[in-house]
Amino acid sequence: MAPIDPQPGIMDIALYQGGKSKVEGVTNVVKLSSNENPFGASPAAKDAVARSVHELHRYPPTDHEDLRRAIGEVHGVDWERVICGVGSDEIITFLCQAYAGEGTEVLYTEHGFAMYRISALAAGATPVEVKERDRVTCVDNLLDGCTDKTRLVFIANPNNPTGTMIGMAEIERLAEGLPDQCLLVLDGAYAEYVEGYDGGAKLVDMRNNVVMTRTFSKLYGLGGLRVGWGYGPRHVIDVLNRVRGPFNLSSTALAAAEAALRDTAYAEKCRNDNTRLRTILSEALAEHGVPCDTSVANFVLARFADQQEAEDCDLYLQKQGLIVRRVAGYNLPNCLRITVGDEPSVRRVAYCIGQFKAGAR
Ligand SMILES: *Cc1c(COP(=O)(O)O)cnc(C)c1O
Repeated sequence: MAPIDPQPGIMDIALYQGGKSKVEGVTNVVKLSSNENPFGASPAAKDAVARSVHELHRYPPTDHEDLRRAIGEVHGVDWERVICGVGSDEIITFLCQAYAGEGTEVLYTEHGFAMYRISALAAGATPVEVKERDRVTCVDNLLDGCTDKTRLVFIANPNNPTGTMIGMAEIERLAEGLPDQCLLVLDGAYAEYVEGYDGGAKLVDMRNNVVMTRTFSKLYGLGGLRVGWGYGPRHVIDVLNRVRGPFNLSSTALAAAEAALRDTAYAEKCRNDNTRLRTILSEALAEHGVPCDTSVANFVLARFADQQEAEDCDLYLQKQGLIVRRVAGYNLPNCLRITVGDEPSVRRVAYCIGQFKAGAR
């Protein structure tokens, strides 16, 4: 009898490792491992969730028009070219499903987000990784990495887990230099943390080969509800809508996302707090002899002498009830990614890393 095998590529997918949220035997832990908003979702979003319980028996809308119109208003984009997904992860999945497949390549950088490889393999495509330059996306390496098989190029800007970003001129050069059959995907999961940055929306408007993805999981504090969106040229959005399930987003998720988006004062407050607390965290780490690249996101990437020291520090922090993220899976074995928490957590993690560097174990 023939074995029952999945499609090629599927068994090469390593299961996604989410940020830990528990430490055995330690109570009152602070989770700084998944880049979540430490202040939670906007009160307006929570109210919207509470109101949504009265309509749980109804199917949600399939066109997401209210949320898309709100995205259009708040982010200054054409709502008709917005598509909503179950997190931006689902938009990444749609892109791979629709544009990649057997015999094609999906390109990203050595410290790129894990979902690019997972979605490429799930679609049967070949994932291809290029080097960064000192933990910064390198446009020349991406252009050199393109072949006539490349269909998608993913960059997160700012990138996770490095926290660094490249400027618009570099992104334009990348979009301009790509082969004709290739789409550039700008993953803007952390775009809201960068004052005055549109995530590449204007570049999307100017070109037919650039797509932007965004999320409600980070600044908007709605990771648990799974809402993201994509913005692209009409031809791409039309393709993605064909592979999208009609009821992919629940009515609760749609209502919460719209309310969160419209509470611009809360988003502004969270962005400002993050900027202030990120400076406190990175300066404190530097004083303890732990350097970080300048991060523009809601986390920092702390660099240690080697993998051993990073792992020892992680274990020490766990004992103190602090959960940060190991990033060896992102080819950064000597680093730990630390989400910018609220002020007490930031001070506590900085203090504990200081104790560790002073010899505590
Ligand atoms: C967190 C994150 C996402 C968002 O994923 P969702 O599915 O929207 O929760 C996307 N890209 C990057 C780089 C991220 O870090």
